[in-house]
Amino acid sequence: MVVMVVLESSQENFIDEIVPFYLDHAHIKGRLVRLGKQTESLLANHSYPALVNQYIAEVISLAAVLSVDVKYEGVFTLQISSQPDQASLIRLITVDINTQGHIRAYAQWDQKILHHEQDFILNPPCLQEVFGRGFMVFTADLAHQIERYQAIVELQGKSLTDSMHHFFRQSDQIPTALVLHSRSGSKEREFVAGAVILQRLPFSGDPTPEQQDQDSDDWFTNLSLLGTLTRKELLNPDLSSFDLLYRLFHERNIHILKAKPLKSQCSCSLNRIQKMLENFSDDDRVGMAVDGQIEIICEFCNKKYTLKA
Ligand SMILES: [Zn+2]
Repeated sequence: MVVMVVLESSQENFIDEIVPFYLDHAHIKGRLVRLGKQTESLLANHSYPALVNQYIAEVISLAAVLSVDVKYEGVFTLQISSQPDQASLIRLITVDINTQGHIRAYAQWDQKILHHEQDFILNPPCLQEVFGRGFMVFTADLAHQIERYQAIVELQGKSLTDSMHHFFRQSDQIPTALVLHSRSGSKEREFVAGAVILQRLPFSGDPTPEQQDQDSDDWFTNLSLLGTLTRKELLNPDLSSFDLLYRLFHERNIHILKAKPLKSQCSCSLNRIQKMLENFSDDDRVGMAVDGQIEIICEFCNKKYTLKA
């Protein structure tokens, strides 16, 4: 007798996390990011249209796969902005992820999105329609460094993935491949996104021509395996990150490291707001005040702070 147990698909199973891994005896480094439940609390304090929420989920996933190299205390920021003089549906998305895996985001968008929301369900707009000729800016702000690392990427192609591949080819980056997908979740204001990145690490010594050929072959084999990953698999809440990676790369000596959880949490505080206000002159602070009180609302979490001028 065969007993079949049908498990209901549930968003609850989806764990928000970054999973680092190595392939081919650590010649290739990879990261998997999956984001689901945390988007609900992250987006709950805003009334963004679905298109904006979807892009926020994608940008967080992208920031998360790129941020893992930040080993020290700090914040990694990914900002996408349109050109001020050009038509765009989304003007700005800013995403922060810190070393603890705390994520926060906010967006500015054009009201005309609301007129096309139904059309977008069947015909989602391409990247150029969403941002125009925009830019992505990555900033790593590390606590122990005075200078910030910054990279600027011109938006190219039809998707964020196209833009990133263009950036990887143009810059001196080590060979890198990226897969990024998203979809709406089971609850209102919940979006599911996932990303995988592979990076071919440079040789530590002088490789022989045979070793270089082998390394190239290995890289292309891994790219082919990554190419078999479907959107459905990446965003399947019932497929654990471990099972997903093992299914894809079990022939490639995969070594999966400890996952880092992602959590929706804003870093704003009364203390930080007070410090920020100290940078203004007494006259400026008086100018900001109404009835002797300065009111500041955090753009990320919408929390309101009231301080004496
Ligand atoms: Zn906040």
